[in-house]
Amino acid sequence: MTSRATVDPPTQDAESIDVDLLVIGAGTAGLVAAKTAAGFGARTLLVEAHRMGGDCLWTGCVPSKSLIAAAETAARARDGHRLGVHVDSMRVDFAGVMRHVHAAIHEIEPVDSAEAVEAAGARVIMGRAHFTGPRTATIAPSGGGPHREVRFRQAIIATGSAPEVPRLPGIEQLAVLSSDDVWELTEQPARLAVLGAGAIGSELSQAFARLGTHVTLVQRNARVLPKEDADASALVAAAMSHDGIDVRVSTTVERVEAAADSQAGILHLSSGDAVPFDRLLVALGRRPRTTGLGLEAAGIRLDDRGYVAVNGALRTSNPRIWSAGDVSGLPQFTHIAGVNGSLAATNAILGLRRRVDAAAVPRVTFTHPEVAAVGLAPADAADHACSVSEIQHSHTDRAIADDDTAGFTRLVIDAKGRVRGAVIVGPRAGESIGEAALVVRQGIRTSAIASTTHPYPTYSDALWNAAIADVRTRLRSGGLGAVIRMLARWRRVTTR
Ligand SMILES: Cc1cc2nc3c(=O)[nH]c(=O)nc-3n(C[C@H](O)[C@H](O)[C@H](O)COP(=O)(O)OP(=O)(O)OC[C@H]3O[C@@H](n4cnc5c(N)ncnc54)[C@H](O)[C@@H]3O)c2cc1C
Repeated sequence: MTSRATVDPPTQDAESIDVDLLVIGAGTAGLVAAKTAAGFGARTLLVEAHRMGGDCLWTGCVPSKSLIAAAETAARARDGHRLGVHVDSMRVDFAGVMRHVHAAIHEIEPVDSAEAVEAAGARVIMGRAHFTGPRTATIAPSGGGPHREVRFRQAIIATGSAPEVPRLPGIEQLAVLSSDDVWELTEQPARLAVLGAGAIGSELSQAFARLGTHVTLVQRNARVLPKEDADASALVAAAMSHDGIDVRVSTTVERVEAAADSQAGILHLSSGDAVPFDRLLVALGRRPRTTGLGLEAAGIRLDDRGYVAVNGALRTSNPRIWSAGDVSGLPQFTHIAGVNGSLAATNAILGLRRRVDAAAVPRVTFTHPEVAAVGLAPADAADHACSVSEIQHSHTDRAIADDDTAGFTRLVIDAKGRVRGAVIVGPRAGESIGEAALVVRQGIRTSAIASTTHPYPTYSDALWNAAIADVRTRLRSGGLGAVIRMLARWRRVTTR
């Protein structure tokens, strides 16, 4: 795969460039930052070392959700008999699946291209940038030629993160797969071992299993998706078992034995089991891309995890340099990279000090069932004097019609009836969580949700009903409830 982004032609003479804003990295954070700054009329230079669009487009959200779409289709066909539809000879053409994955990438690619950024008013150079001082940087152009010196008034570091490969005995003998290169597979592995059951490991395990690969998922923690609601984890684990995944929780890898082809091998687990595999995929977290950036020359400090340290306004220890996206150590999602890219550019160019608002940031894991959450977690409700209103999707008509009832909608509600958090588990939870994010962000009360007509039959019906259930509870228990009951009694007497 090569980017269709234009490469600024190499010049014979070393060129020195003077800009208002230098943005390093053209993933979501850098793209949004550059377009925002150019929109303010700032002279903006965006530098990208590899491919315009970054991880989300090439190795993250877009390919993973495209693979999941194919896997969902296969799972629906396989389980169709439950709805009376028998697909007798379903066949997965892995090359065709990968063609779909790459077609999706290429369809979206123009939005992130150098042409699109230049049309928005910023300049793009393909090359690797590093700081040479507090206000200067050098670019080594991708196409070769002399380095270019840049003098900037402000800069934004948006260099993202890369998969972490663990140091396990024997792993160095193996061609390990990660989210960076799994998209280059041309043959479907018959047996895939996956290390790590966070969002990426869980999504990819289930997608490959549903496409027919035998997957063993090894997780050190006691449950899959350990950062999510425990009941959500249990539902996803049950779905994984249904999909044929061999889930090994509370298990670590002691050593890896590589076969002669350096692709297949055997995992030796802490349980004493030996698990043979054809390919090994690691999804054990990510590390920030800070190597070779010249951070010391620019006076930029890292935090104790190695991420670029930023304050609430995304400013680094160099007051002229800002950071956004995965490299800044905030939760690693495309929507956060975009919002914070815009925030960093606005603060840098307009001299504002707007701060990151982390209170109502939604997150979604695109397993089946999807797991979506925002705001205060139900498990923390009691500590914040909040209650939880819940609707199980076995009582949601749309889920019953779809024969897909494994899920729930939970709202965390404070004493005044304001929704402070939500967890939604089920099909399309990622769509429903947008409404919950708005409600949490705006401090909207359950009474306002209850009085807003929701369409029937939909999964968002569950959120509506959770709000209605809370309003009913309040009416029964509060002073207003006593007044309403009195009014109803009085009407009964006077209208006899
Ligand atoms: C498999 C997978 C699935 C995911 N799914 C989702 C999802 O469904 N939803 C979601 O919200 N998030 C998802 N994410 C996370 C999301 O992809 C990232 O949070 C997002 O891409 C981060 O954007 P960024 O701009 O910070 O960094 P990146 O997209 O990594 O961009 C950084 C860019 O900087 C460039 N660069 C690095 N160093 C230099 C240098 N010295 N000079 C010039 N350029 C440089 C890199 O080449 C890269 O293009 C997923 C991630 C993965 C891996």
